[in-house]
Amino acid sequence: MTALFDHHVHSDRSDGTVSLADRAATVRVRPHGVSDHFPWRDTLRTDDDVLRYVADASALGLRVGIEYDLGVAPPLRQTTREALDYVIGALHQIELAPGEWIRYDDAGAFLKGRTRSFGEAARFMDAALAARIRERTLDVVRAGIERDGIGILGHATMGPLAALGDPEAAYPAEWQERLIDLCVAASVAIEVNEAYGVPHREFLERAARRGAVFSVGSDTHFELRPLDRTMAMIAAAGLATVRFVSPERARPR
Ligand SMILES: [Zn+2]
Ligand SMILES: [Zn+2]
Repeated sequence: MTALFDHHVHSDRSDGTVSLADRAATVRVRPHGVSDHFPWRDTLRTDDDVLRYVADASALGLRVGIEYDLGVAPPLRQTTREALDYVIGALHQIELAPGEWIRYDDAGAFLKGRTRSFGEAARFMDAALAARIRERTLDVVRAGIERDGIGILGHATMGPLAALGDPEAAYPAEWQERLIDLCVAASVAIEVNEAYGVPHREFLERAARRGAVFSVGSDTHFELRPLDRTMAMIAAAGLATVRFVSPERARPR
């Protein structure tokens, strides 16, 4: 099997530890691009910063995307989007009402195996709060697709609800289908994320049945490692290799 293209790789242009030049050197180990966070502190704040990033990384032979922070990132100009090979939209926090933010850092650290328990679990057992998070997630993803033209939905179910431990309970099938259908209708690829191990098997199976396409994302911030978890997730859900996009099929719109 030819190696699947890994779209989701960070460099030191945002919170990765590896330089663009060193990332370019590992493309021959297995195919991958770079996709740093946008926005990011003082390195990726504006359209001009993104265009400089594209120029620097593509000069090294890299395919260049960004991890566009859904619900937070300012809109990019159409010409900036077209300069990128692809745009991954991903949620790292969500604003349920003006000023009422839920941050995903603790849930993310737990899902990555960096912490042994999810300290905020009790709070997110609240059914009404969970429902608000789910509904708002659909709104924010829809905006990312319609306004921002994302081509890949990164770590779709990462967040406090997944960190409760039973994603099939936290994410009702009907909600999963609505999220999947948003992506399918716009040909947005659903990422299989190595770092967080999301989405779970039933979600991927549902997505495949509903006609979704998929994308590989190691989401590495450090050295490039084998995609062991991803390949196990793909095998468990029975996802066909032909359903995985390459940068050519994930062009920004
Ligand atoms: Zn992310
Ligand atoms: Zn990432």
